[in-house]
Amino acid sequence: MVNIPFHKARLKAVSRAERAFDKRLISFRKDLIAYVFSEMSAGLIMEGNSIADTSQNLIMINRLDRIVESYVRSNRGMNFLRSLVGDIDKVAEVNKKYYASVLGKKDIESTWRAASGYLKSYLGVGDRGEISEGSILMDSITSKQWMRQMKAAVVHGVENGLTLNEMKSEVEKAGERFDVQVKETLPNVFDKAENILGKQVAKEEEMHFAYYQGGIMKRTRDFCEERNNKLFHVSEIALFGTPDDPYGGYTNKSQGEFQGKTDPYDPFTDLGGYNCRHRLFYVSNELGFRLRPDLDPDDVTIPDNWVMAA
Ligand SMILES: [Zn+2]
Repeated sequence: MVNIPFHKARLKAVSRAERAFDKRLISFRKDLIAYVFSEMSAGLIMEGNSIADTSQNLIMINRLDRIVESYVRSNRGMNFLRSLVGDIDKVAEVNKKYYASVLGKKDIESTWRAASGYLKSYLGVGDRGEISEGSILMDSITSKQWMRQMKAAVVHGVENGLTLNEMKSEVEKAGERFDVQVKETLPNVFDKAENILGKQVAKEEEMHFAYYQGGIMKRTRDFCEERNNKLFHVSEIALFGTPDDPYGGYTNKSQGEFQGKTDPYDPFTDLGGYNCRHRLFYVSNELGFRLRPDLDPDDVTIPDNWVMAA
């Protein structure tokens, strides 16, 4: 890959944001579980040091939903989400510098407004920073899937007469599912943010080439391995996940199927599909055509929507 200013800065910004987010997620979850446990244990009937095996105690599990709900929807929950938006904003700032530099423009404000607006609507963040109901951000902490394990831990504690301390450690263990839920609801959110911003900037500024970047690791899919570090024209990217794509890495080429493909699939923002860590690094058309002499500028077509019809 040619030397592109802010390329390293973008990679660094994403890993820094990931580390900050991971730390905050763990501490948010620990506080949440501590709150849940103290609210719940205050209502438990004890028999000496053990939790009594009574139906009243079992009914406690029905209160858990409300206890959790009140916490995640409190300021603490909203502050947690706002901090995440702050991390994403930091990544976006570096992206903005990258695009200004690659485009050789001082002012990309109007383009940037359009791109940021698109990202905000993807995340569900309103004009005043409010987080909307039903958005992936809100769902990441308000979904209740993770609570199945916690309820099971409580039932187990009641039915087996555990001590409060024993139950506490089981509930804490089960609470780790919360992190999994948040991450599954917001898969690689920083990579995704970069790809969403990039797609919009590139559309607005008519940048028609992008590097498929992110490296190759042990679990990298064939689809990504085939494309990693290659420079593509947008008309080629638009064919990813379709039978017309001349590149490989498919499990069923005639259907455009590859392992991990999302549904719906947008090659510009989903790239290699679920859990894909790759990102598109757009470069100027001038550089693009220089590095891809096999493409004729008079002969390439720009896809309408940059999304192929299904
Ligand atoms: Zn990938």
